[in-house]
Amino acid sequence: MFSYRHAFHAGSHADILKHLVMIHLVEYLQEKPGALTIVDTHAGAGIYSLIDGFAAVSNEADQGIYRLAKFSEINSVSPGIANYLECIRAENIAEEIAIYPGSPFILARLLRSQDRLKLFELHPKEIDILRHNIGELKQSKQIDIYAEDSFARLKGLMPPPSRRGLVLIDPSYEDKQDYRYLETTMEEALQRFATGCYAIWYPCLSRRESASLPDHMKKIAATHNRSWLQVELRVENAPKERRLQASGMFIINPPWTLEKQLAESLPTLVKALGQDRGAGFVLKSFEV
Ligand code: SAM
Repeated sequence: MFSYRHAFHAGSHADILKHLVMIHLVEYLQEKPGALTIVDTHAGAGIYSLIDGFAAVSNEADQGIYRLAKFSEINSVSPGIANYLECIRAENIAEEIAIYPGSPFILARLLRSQDRLKLFELHPKEIDILRHNIGELKQSKQIDIYAEDSFARLKGLMPPPSRRGLVLIDPSYEDKQDYRYLETTMEEALQRFATGCYAIWYPCLSRRESASLPDHMKKIAATHNRSWLQVELRVENAPKERRLQASGMFIINPPWTLEKQLAESLPTLVKALGQDRGAGFVLKSFEV
């Protein structure tokens, strides 16, 4: 436990998919003026340097954000991708992307004055960095930070007083139990706040717990009579490689606009980020 540091993966293809979806969800929910509560259950450090530290060791951004940024310079991209790139560039003063904002920073920048953001982080080092980073933001008064286990605490925050909520669940799955905790957490959260929008990130791995995650989420959504959307992006299919080759997002109560936006963006993401002929995407949904 606690060997995971998100800086190693900042700006990776998995971050791109997750943050692209997340931005669309927030912007859709903000079309109504009512206050929105956003919970980021697994926050990380908030923002990352890509040119030094852990990110420079792993270089995952080379096959992620740098590849996409370069592609967008010579090809047209969907409005969703253009919007995502703008959010990333907004944290960078120079033309070159040297800083990658994690979910807490992207979400913080999107807050309107009536919105609230709640961040959870358990790692003893990451929580200190997160607090410091968030403290620098003008939105910091709208943000609560909890050094607590979000799987245990989420239900206590549901439903939010505003009754309009987005929950981003982005575990590291470092602990195999995370798969089980996720299921319990989703059951409890939906019992208390069935109309919330829940976005769950997952790695696409051959291990049983990972491969069965989408089906478990579909069952939970069906029990609560909820619509869902599943999206996966695979950048390669090299059988012996140990790096993450594909990831997905499972969204419960997705906005009706999400599927169309992703259908526009995914072929471009495959073109820009695909590394071999195994690259591709999955886009499925079910409406109640
Ligand atoms: N959401 C971040 C982003 O997109 O920039 C990345 C988060 S990273 C994948 C997962 C984080 O969750 C790690 O920093 C880890 O320390 C933290 N974490 C793991 N288990 C947790 C738990 N039960 N409650 C809160 N945080 C947890």
